[in-house]
Amino acid sequence: MNKKMLDRLRLILKICFILLLIGFLTFLIFPGLFFSSIKTYNAQSIRIIFLLLIMVLIFTKLYIKEKAKAITVTDTVTSGPNSEWFRAEAEKLFKRHGTKGYSIIQIDIDKFKFVNRRYGFSEGDKLLKYIHDMLNLNTHENELSARLLGDWFVMLINSSKRGDIISRVEKIINDISCYPDVSSKKFKVAVKCGIYILKAKKETVNGAIEKAIIAGRSVMSGYNSSYAFYDERLANSIIDAKQLEDRIGEAIKDGEFFVVFQPKYCLNNKEIYGAEALVRWNHPERGLMLPAEFIPIFEKNGFIVSLDRYVFEMVCKQIRWWLDNDYHIVPISVNVSQVNLYKTDFVKDFIGILGKHCIPSEYIELEFTESAIFENQIALHKIIKEFKSKGIALAIDDFGSGYSCLSLLGIMPFDTVKIDRRFLSGNFNTNSGRVVIKKIVELVNTIGMRVVIEGVETDEQADFLKNIGCNIVQGYLFSPPVTIECFNKLINNIAEKIQLL
Ligand code: C2E
Ligand code: CA
Ligand code: CA
Repeated sequence: MNKKMLDRLRLILKICFILLLIGFLTFLIFPGLFFSSIKTYNAQSIRIIFLLLIMVLIFTKLYIKEKAKAITVTDTVTSGPNSEWFRAEAEKLFKRHGTKGYSIIQIDIDKFKFVNRRYGFSEGDKLLKYIHDMLNLNTHENELSARLLGDWFVMLINSSKRGDIISRVEKIINDISCYPDVSSKKFKVAVKCGIYILKAKKETVNGAIEKAIIAGRSVMSGYNSSYAFYDERLANSIIDAKQLEDRIGEAIKDGEFFVVFQPKYCLNNKEIYGAEALVRWNHPERGLMLPAEFIPIFEKNGFIVSLDRYVFEMVCKQIRWWLDNDYHIVPISVNVSQVNLYKTDFVKDFIGILGKHCIPSEYIELEFTESAIFENQIALHKIIKEFKSKGIALAIDDFGSGYSCLSLLGIMPFDTVKIDRRFLSGNFNTNSGRVVIKKIVELVNTIGMRVVIEGVETDEQADFLKNIGCNIVQGYLFSPPVTIECFNKLINNIAEKIQLL
């Protein structure tokens, strides 16, 4: 029975009750009039019938009340309890036993949006139901579990020892990972768990859930499930992030974001081949900030879309200035966050900016990270086609940092593969590692894509890369990211600079 049916039943019940009351009162006040057509009647039995009917109505009302209560605490997707029930029951347990000895675990399905997008909402709902069932299996006496909202679940467990909690969480993670493939397609379910161990002091259910969520946020997204415990420093970093978020609007208005350029060098002719535009934030209180300090926050709150657009426009303006002032121009790569891929006007917007500043498309390259490409293959196919039809070059960034799916190289028509600096440093020091780098460079060259290696820091690395056929490199050995003034000087003094190498 659903809520709509219950409401209908409630209305029918009300009407019956009113009719019965009218009938009963009429019978009490004008018994003769009411039953004038009946010659013999037994007032006593009529009274009993009325009373019986009223009792039936009262029982029905009580039944509806119970059902309604069950509906308000039932989660529509999992058919298990919902978050209101969880909060109320946890409150009761805390009142009875105190908060000490309990822990809250928040469970978040990693990349749940991907399941919905790729396989549809019904598969998404099936997965939610499965997670609920697994948590339910792992919930013991005097413990609770429920869906909190969206793809977040919450558990209250009767344990406060880290070792015990870890084995419980690992068991849950293991049970969840046994999910049969979504629609028989290969998909591994991973979850992020945030854990908060309640203290003896008075704590509220909501406060404890919030702390578990904060802990959960600190777990990195990835291929495998993971968990983290709450600690105060985490809470401070969230406050920090909030303060940065609050300044975004003003920061754009006050021109606090600016672009630096890191040259890419060609090892063969020792010339600057191109450059990558990298954003910086000149924060009035915190000073110069690197992207690692604010991009993850902007990716979460969506502001990255505006920032990427802003950086792209600054780069276009710069190229326009070089064109107008007869400068030597090299192609500039701009980083694009995957958040853009789901903005319907993303391609139109970027092409519009290019047109507004009359920039020939050969001066621009867009870099998409390997993980963004892997996770958004469907959305990307269309986007790649549109950019390529306008002659804009595209690069796979950070190749080798994540899943390193080689088949991506075959199916996605990118122009450039940028090998991640961690891939270079992680493999360069062993023979087998160097063979892997060599083979990847050969593979990329063979399929006709350009290969760029970033993070080149030593002469040995540069010599090795030149020998294996990787001619374009980027790294501190040649130049760190520099301001536009420095970059202009670099471009004009290529010969001088190369002599320093
Ligand atoms: P990325 O695209 O991989 O950029 C290269 C990063 O490696 C830059 O860090 C650069 O300073 C650093 N790097 C270059 N050569 C070396 C080297 O030889 N050794 C070492 N250790 N590091 C080197 P940066 O500027 O801090 O940027 C970090 C990341 O932030 C970038 O990684 C990129 O993913 C992101 N990012 C930067 N600007 C933007 C932007 O405008 N939009 C978006 N969406 N992301 C951006
Ligand atoms: Ca990049
Ligand atoms: Ca990179």
